[in-house]
Amino acid sequence: MLGSAETSRRLACDASRVVMRHTADGRVEEVGARTRTIPPALRRVLHHRDKGCRFPGCGRPFGQGHHIRHWAHGGPTTLSNLALLCRRHHRAVHEEGYQVERLPDGELEFRRPDGRSLPDVPSQPSVAHDPVHALRARHESQGLWIHARTAMPGWLGERLDVGWAIDVLHPLAARTQSELPAHE
Ligand SMILES: [Zn+2]
Ligand SMILES: [Zn+2]
Repeated sequence: MLGSAETSRRLACDASRVVMRHTADGRVEEVGARTRTIPPALRRVLHHRDKGCRFPGCGRPFGQGHHIRHWAHGGPTTLSNLALLCRRHHRAVHEEGYQVERLPDGELEFRRPDGRSLPDVPSQPSVAHDPVHALRARHESQGLWIHARTAMPGWLGERLDVGWAIDVLHPLAARTQSELPAHE
């Protein structure tokens, strides 16, 4: 179980010039201004680069700058050591055991608390500005005319002709039968 030290690291990681130091039993021992805050210029670049929360599948368009290697462990306040995470996922990384690392190619890799990789979700398919119009145009280009009765069957209540149905469903059946040698 991760304790209040992790909570105070999350609070100190971003969003404040205030750092709280806790005693082993969880009391606030000190509130200071010694945190490595992210300067506004770097924050703008970070938002521009990450657009939103980088946690797989999230993408909320606002967030907090997370030090991938915490400054308390020697991690610098540099763009490569920062990732934008929403409040929820910032908590997941600091307090719920999720891990994030930057790979040598610059991509982020997230891992579940059990160490399994958390793959990024594929991006959403793009939807036309006017999807109904786009779909109709596509149908027209394919010669399809879809109207209210398109899905109505042409059946008028006749009895099922099993032989005909089998011929339709399995055209090979009719041919095979006629090609079979006659039996007594
Ligand atoms: Zn953080
Ligand atoms: Zn998020």
